Order: sequence, then C-alpha cells, then structure tokens
Amino acid sequence: MREVVKIINPYDPGLFPEDFEKPDVIQLGSNENPYEPSEEVKRTYIQSLKFIRLYPKSTYDILKTELSKYLGVERDEISVGCGASELINCVCMALLEELDKVAIPVPCYTLYAIYAMLRNAQIYYPQFTGYKLKSDFVYDVKPKLTFLCSPNNPTGNTIKRKVIEEILENSEYVVLDEAYVEFSSTSNVNLIEEFDNLIVIRSFSKFFGLAGMRVGYLVADRKIVEGIEKIRLPFAISYPALRTAVAALRSVDYYLNLKEKIVRERERVYEKLRKISGLEPYPSEANFILVKVTREVDDLIQKLLNEGIIVRDVTGLIGLDGKHFRVTIGKPEENDRLLVLLSKFC
Ligand SMILES: *Cc1c(COP(=O)(O)O)cnc(C)c1O
Repeated sequence: MREVVKIINPYDPGLFPEDFEKPDVIQLGSNENPYEPSEEVKRTYIQSLKFIRLYPKSTYDILKTELSKYLGVERDEISVGCGASELINCVCMALLEELDKVAIPVPCYTLYAIYAMLRNAQIYYPQFTGYKLKSDFVYDVKPKLTFLCSPNNPTGNTIKRKVIEEILENSEYVVLDEAYVEFSSTSNVNLIEEFDNLIVIRSFSKFFGLAGMRVGYLVADRKIVEGIEKIRLPFAISYPALRTAVAALRSVDYYLNLKEKIVRERERVYEKLRKISGLEPYPSEANFILVKVTREVDDLIQKLLNEGIIVRDVTGLIGLDGKHFRVTIGKPEENDRLLVLLSKFC
C-alpha cells in the first residue's frame, strides 16, 4: 500500500442513529435537512424503480439542463458527480501533480486534505480564527490550488466576494465549496463568468435534502468541465438519484419554503444559545451553528448523546482552539429539546 494511504486519518462521518440502542434519537450531527422530500420527489422515486435494471445515460443531460436553468449558466459549464465529495476528488485528480502546493485555510471541511494528500501535494493550512479569511496567504504560498468553503463548515460564516476575487487573482485554481449556499444570502457562482480558474462545487445533500441519494455538481469554465467529465465515474449517479434530483429542482418552491423555516429556527436557536452561560455560538449563514464551550462543562457532548441527541464534536479540528460542537438546525421541537438540555447541563 502507498505510504500516504497509511498516514491519512479516516474521514470522520460522525455518529448515526443506528449506533444507539434507543429509539427516537435526534440527529443534529450531520447537517441534513430535517424535513421530508416534496410529494413530486417521492412520486418520482417510486416511478423510477421500474427502470433500475437500466444504466442511466452517462452524460446526465436532463439534470444538467435543469441545473442550467436553476443557476443561470450554460449546460457545458456543469459537471455532475456522486455527491460533492466525488467532485472534490475529481478536481484533485485533474489538477494536482506531485508536490504541487495546495492551500486549505482552516478551520474547514476535512475531505479536501484527504484527496490532496492522495496526490502527494504539499499542503498549507493558513489559519484564521473563526474562518475570517484574508487573502495574504496566497502571496506566501503561491498555490496551484486553494480550497475555500462559503458558508464554511464548521464555522457557518461566508467569505467576502472581494477576498475570493483576490485569491482567484493569485492562485492558479480555486475551489469554492458552496454546499450550504442556499441557506445564505449570496452565491458567488456567477464569478465563473469572470474567472476561468474558479470551480464552484455544490450538493443536493443539504438544501434539497437528498443526502441519501448522493448527487453533487460542479460549475466552472468549459475547459475544466470537459476534463472533469472525462475522469469522473461514468455512472456516478444512480437512476433514482438522477430522477429525484431533477424532481427536486422542479419543486424548488417547496424547498425554498423549508429553507425559510430552517433560517428562522437558526436565528431563534442562535439567540437562545447566546443566553446559556458557558456557550458561545458563532453567527451562521448555513443550516448549523458552531458552538464554543467556554466554561468547563464536563462531558457536555456525551451527556447530550446519553439523552439521545447527536451533535458533532469538532474539538481538535485543525484551526479550532478549545472545546467546540457543531449542531444542525432541526425541527422546532428537536431544537427545543436540545435547548432545554443545554440549559440544564450548563
Ligand atoms: C456536506 C458537505 C459536502 C457534501 O457533500 P455530498 O458529498 O454532496 O453529500 C461538501 N462540502 C461540505 C463543506 C459539506 O459540509
């Protein structure tokens, strides 16, 4: 086995309700959408079962057509994959030679480093408290590729457009991960019209609530898209996943309505968390909140788990000092249960 594979830390997927003996576990650890799919998505999924003996058409034209309407970009500026995760790997495969410099500002999502390491790249981790990014690091590192995430996982904040532009001007390529963008007020996907070195990666897992279907996409200049289309898995998206993603795009109003609820809850939960002593929540533009535990609150995360609430322990994540957990915004009654327990334990 390659040495690099031996030293890679496995991706931490967090805990799952299946890991517990008890029923009715509240899953607030994985940033999933807490609501059911639209009726159209459910119906489409059932109807697609008749066709699962067939291969899906590997160019995924219907999905790209719907996405081009949703995003206002051309169809040949879009590539698709088995979740955003596959596309992060594809970008690394397509762009990185051995010892190329990759900048990964932290704290952020851990998958970028895994795939960059697999290319034997040289990785730099410029550190920004609260992911309040400045562009200075590009002048020192001169990266071949920079990974940015906006809104960022786990801090929840967005990066200023001006900062993204400065990084684009000084990094050969830039990946902008917009997995949570629909929960925020701005997208920077239209920067691809100006910058042919920008790759925007997005997902159906969060806003569209299709984490179990595994569909993601990438938006970039045609030349990059052409390369990615050559190397991604030919049948990356299953037939039911393809059909449900298209149906989700066609019922976007349903999802916008859910988003309103989630954003309203996010603001409510944030205000309540601020009032609990020993907790310091970060303002968020995503569907989760990062919380710093400032006083010694022994085993807070474990106590929540004992009560059947899963939050993500991100203590020790590179770039985060002190004890932190990340909590997904759930349904109002789930959030209430969390808040009651946190008030009790803190
Ligand atoms: C959840 C997440 C993804 C997504 O993934 P899929 O593979 O599409 O499920 C990508 N980037 C970030 C930052 C995420 O949090």
